[in-house]
Amino acid sequence: MNQTLAIIKPDATGNGDAGRIIAHIEAAGFVIRALRMVTLTEAQARAFYDVHRERPFYQSLVAFMTSGPCIPMVLEAESAIRRYRDAIGATDPAEAAPGTVRQLYAESKERNAVHGSDSAENARREIAFFFSESERIG
Ligand code: ATP
Ligand code: MG
Repeated sequence: MNQTLAIIKPDATGNGDAGRIIAHIEAAGFVIRALRMVTLTEAQARAFYDVHRERPFYQSLVAFMTSGPCIPMVLEAESAIRRYRDAIGATDPAEAAPGTVRQLYAESKERNAVHGSDSAENARREIAFFFSESERIG
């Protein structure tokens, strides 16, 4: 078993899709170990996506991620990081496989409904970014 950090992004919470996305994630076999709703500050969004600070889309991404509430979640499953990336599909919903979360719920490459950690090291960092140790004991 391992854990990954998922986020339902502000486009999806604003569209009223959060419940359907959570149901989709549970039906795909992930156990939710922690969950909260938070509206990121600019500093928090900049820090979370610091790896992309040199990219042309960084300012726009930060504006999007602070535009409304996010729902970060700790998900647990066998090979959770890879399996969750498979379940959400490609970054651009136009390229996401049928039945993936992004194909079903995302609007564009930026407003793409969900986040998923891309490595074990980043999953650890991102889980700790949103949840204290006591919130993760289960
Ligand atoms: P995430 O890290 O959110 O799970 P990802 O790993 O599929 O997504 P990254 O390359 O890490 O994709 O990009 C982080 C986020 O930045 C994307 O999810 C998307 O919201 C935004 N993004 C990425 N590329 C672009 C782009 N070319 N134009 C606009 N926004 C982009
Ligand atoms: Mg990424």
